Amino acid sequence: MTSAQTSAQDAYAALQQKGLRLNMQRGQPSDQDFGLSNRLIGALNEHDFQMDGTDLRNYPGGIRGLPSARALAANYLDLKDENVIVWNNSSLELQGLVLMFALLHGLPGGQPWAGQPNKMIVTVPGYDRHFSLLEHLGFELLTVLMQPDGPDMDAVERLAQDPSVRGIVFVPTYSNPTGESISPEKAARLAGLKAAAPDFTIFADDAYRAHHLYAEDRDEPVNLVALCRDAGHPNRAFVYASTSKITFAGAGLGFVGSSEDNIAWLGEHLNAQSIGPNKFEQARHVRFLETYSGGLEGLMAEHARLIAPKFAAVDEILSRELGTQGEYATWTKPKGGYFISLDTAEPVAARVIELAGQAGISLTPAGSTFPKGQDDGRNIRLAPTRPPLEEVREAMEGVAVCIQLATEEYRSQR
Ligand code: PMP
Repeated sequence: MTSAQTSAQDAYAALQQKGLRLNMQRGQPSDQDFGLSNRLIGALNEHDFQMDGTDLRNYPGGIRGLPSARALAANYLDLKDENVIVWNNSSLELQGLVLMFALLHGLPGGQPWAGQPNKMIVTVPGYDRHFSLLEHLGFELLTVLMQPDGPDMDAVERLAQDPSVRGIVFVPTYSNPTGESISPEKAARLAGLKAAAPDFTIFADDAYRAHHLYAEDRDEPVNLVALCRDAGHPNRAFVYASTSKITFAGAGLGFVGSSEDNIAWLGEHLNAQSIGPNKFEQARHVRFLETYSGGLEGLMAEHARLIAPKFAAVDEILSRELGTQGEYATWTKPKGGYFISLDTAEPVAARVIELAGQAGISLTPAGSTFPKGQDDGRNIRLAPTRPPLEEVREAMEGVAVCIQLATEEYRSQR
């Protein structure tokens, strides 16, 4: 046994002695984050059941959402009100609904996708719920790398020559889990892409569009709907977002932006299964955010105040314990979003996660950032938002010990 392995084992034994119970796997807001929005709960009172001339208690109000809520969502997505639908709490549900309507009915002017081979491009490392949703609906997933400036566009352009490739699903801003954002150049390339499928579609999950950590140093979100229109593919992009990481993860507003044609098409299909979304929740969000100091941006600045120190702690502790030369691992340094993506130098991610689990530190399961868990054995998603800062520090010190031990074990066996 090498001396490095012995000292890593000693450090791990000491870590186990601590009897920790820490969780770094959930991409959830902290209780402090939620606390910023507690006034949302009481933002309406028993006399407050009118907004935009609509009785919030009754059915009428329209399938696209309350006008004031649509204005809020349009402003958030940098679109006009007629380009958005505000639905219920989950943007992921909207993503599933649009895919199901495309499968069953076809996109505007297109054929139904169902009954044909369907492939979808996804970026890796990526978001496990995108993979499971797409696989659940029968899509074969084709992976392309998420690079520091967005999807590997050479690979996307090559794959899009297959007419059964229906489009791409990815996170354009502060992606899950790398925290990287698409550059304006790559966004324009995607908008203008020559695809074999006439209805090749960009499904952009812009869940972290406003989730900047630093006021002065931020990634600028792109406007894929406008870029596609300007590139002569007006119906190419659907852009999704929600307030799940703004107000309440379990009770926010989910919305989608797209061309007028796509919004009319989606409204028609939603109308077949619902008289309309929950108007009270929409009205509460409008009231709460219009009275929050600085509005939505003011609230996001408060979140950044809570979250930025946690991201800084992850980088500080990993750099201190593992060095910055990549001997044990490399990791991203996002300017926003909810995650940090770490790659171990050796293919030991599953062993690190196992060791961490045995020492009471719960990490995102191995392989979950790749479809069917078929990863390269190196990627670990770190989610620092939920635990208090002190626990983030403690967890990262422990994770560093686990990375050292797993690496030394691996190297000693070669
Ligand atoms: N998209 C991404 C990229 C996410 O990370 C998450 C939450 N982890 C979601 C969507 C979920 O969004 P919603 O709550 O609006 O369904």
